[in-house]
Amino acid sequence: MSHGPIDERLRSLALSTRGFMPEAEGDALHAAALEAAPHADGPFVEIGSYCGRSTVWLGAAARTTGRTLFAVDHHFGSEENQPGWEWHEPDLVDPRTGRMDTLPRLRATLVDAGLTDVVVTVVGDSPTVARAWSTPIAFLFIDGGHGVEPARRDYEMWTPLVAPGGTLAIHDVFPDPADGGRPPYEEIYLPALASGSFEDVSVTGSLRVLRRR
Ligand code: SAH
Ligand code: MG
Repeated sequence: MSHGPIDERLRSLALSTRGFMPEAEGDALHAAALEAAPHADGPFVEIGSYCGRSTVWLGAAARTTGRTLFAVDHHFGSEENQPGWEWHEPDLVDPRTGRMDTLPRLRATLVDAGLTDVVVTVVGDSPTVARAWSTPIAFLFIDGGHGVEPARRDYEMWTPLVAPGGTLAIHDVFPDPADGGRPPYEEIYLPALASGSFEDVSVTGSLRVLRRR
């Protein structure tokens, strides 16, 4: 199946949405999801949506390929998004609860993108959602908590749910510690390869795409 690049309007919207997905990697994520679809049935799942930046690229690919994207996030932010950490954005704190809350931003992004019929927002803790999940996944994108424990749990609980022929995409994979945090590399990417169940498909910046054998 060959499809062109993402619709220009959606691409501009993704680029104007807050978050942590660089332009080239968002385009690569979109392309990887288009390429993944013919290899496996089932939905797309994103772990870690934040305000919906990556969700627009993935949701556009879901629309093109007739899939549903489940966007999983508790919307309380990762450890690295909390006050005092490098990736904190103070205006995303709900003044009433004092906690981060990116859910209103995600919803606004999906409405602006016209993707509310394609993207199902799942508000919850990633391992809790995984425990109740049984549908084989055609495309799994992991971009949730980047600490050792969150990354390890996302690997252990979600990757077995990728369908045979399905695709696993991992964000913020930095083999060189000088470039960024290690857990997505050490707790997700390396174990996936070492398991023998996944093989490399492509690398774009910190985005790694693997396919399940
Ligand atoms: N993909 C986004 C960035 C995601 S940031 C983009 O393109 O901009 C990481 C997200 O993972 C945060 O929104 C945080 O709330 C979420 N997250 C971290 N740990 C989680 C957990 N245990 N369960 C659900 N979501 C989690
Ligand atoms: Mg990321």
